[in-house]
Amino acid sequence: MKTVSLCGSTGSIGRSACRILAAASHLNCETLIFGRNEIVAREQIALLKPAFVGCLEKESALNIKKDFPFIREAFYGEGTLEAAAQPADIFLSAVSGSAGMAYSFAALEGARRMALANKETLVMAGELFMNEAQKKGITLLPVDSEHNALFQCLQGEEKANIESLILTASGGPFRGFSREELAHVTPEQALRHPTWSMGKKITIDSATLVNKGLEVIEAVRLFGFEENAIEVIVHPQSVIHSMVRMKDGSLKALMGSADMRLPIAYAFDYPRRARYQWEHWDPVQTGTLTFELPDENVFPSLALARLAIKEGGLLPLVYNRVNEECVVAFLEERIMLTDIFYFLELYLEEYGRKNRGLESVDDVKAADLEISRRIKKDLELR
Ligand code: NDP
Ligand code: MG
Repeated sequence: MKTVSLCGSTGSIGRSACRILAAASHLNCETLIFGRNEIVAREQIALLKPAFVGCLEKESALNIKKDFPFIREAFYGEGTLEAAAQPADIFLSAVSGSAGMAYSFAALEGARRMALANKETLVMAGELFMNEAQKKGITLLPVDSEHNALFQCLQGEEKANIESLILTASGGPFRGFSREELAHVTPEQALRHPTWSMGKKITIDSATLVNKGLEVIEAVRLFGFEENAIEVIVHPQSVIHSMVRMKDGSLKALMGSADMRLPIAYAFDYPRRARYQWEHWDPVQTGTLTFELPDENVFPSLALARLAIKEGGLLPLVYNRVNEECVVAFLEERIMLTDIFYFLELYLEEYGRKNRGLESVDDVKAADLEISRRIKKDLELR
């Protein structure tokens, strides 16, 4: 029996993980952390019976503790990070956006394995996080479907055998759009992803291909390849989750349905595989698979991410935070989707001129706060 901490339980990834835990007798949810969605959290708590709970609101925490006598301690507010630091065989880091970084770091205190969905942790503080996890002997298993696929394809391969890593992208809802057409899309259209069902923030990022940009940075940091050894190929059927190109011309690909339960279960069970009762992907039903290059004239987000990781220092952090605030503004219909590219370019150029390294997690947080304040102000003026 393995103990699991679910962090971000009420989100898209968190709910998929709950379904796995409800079905798996070899996994036991010991800690459950969510933000504000008390209704869904209560259902999950009744089902999984965790010993520890953490959430943002004091009132929710106290009421939950009162109503579920098996809960030993309910943390709230800043204290939620203490819940993340509880001992666990596996910690699932699935809070959305930059807020997830603090939980990932807190979990390094108590977790033996980190199943990492929150890609922002690696984008914002990748080197610090990887070093800290390694120092503490924590196994890192990527949950992001592409990186999970790469991790699987890399099993048994020496780095010297590998030419490049290929991230596949669905292309999002606006594949084939012109820049002009992209400028006039609504949040409702952008939230309609063709193949994956995900939280709002990552769905918008998929529509701008910023998600793929973040994933290029994530891949560099996870697997230690140079940025130019990370390719991006659009594959609209989302059946191949990523590929590894070998020096001899062979390509290894991982295939399966577009269901996040697969990479989550892999990250939980590695190196073993358990039998789960979900529908298995059928190649005959899918039929044709297609591939094309992303249109980088319409989507400059990829080139900007490449610039950010090549320059390093503050720039990946800038890319992440500027985008995150722009996504909020776009969802509130204060800016156009294509304004996201404008602000990314503007900020990357400015911070590129005064770039510097990041020394510590506190340094990351301070720099992130500064960028956040500035971009919010710029967006308010719009
Ligand atoms: P969602 O928006 O669906 O869920 C976010 C979760 O985080 C919710 O449980 C929310 O709680 C919680 N949360 C938000 N802020 C806080 C906070 N300050 N403290 C505690 N909890 C908080 O996101 P997703 O599940 O889509 O994504 C989660 C992460 O996984 C992201 O980093 C994303 O990039 C990554 N990812 C997601 C994929 C997907 O298929 N969804 C695929 C690959 C990666 P509440 O709702 O209760 O307020
Ligand atoms: Mg992904």
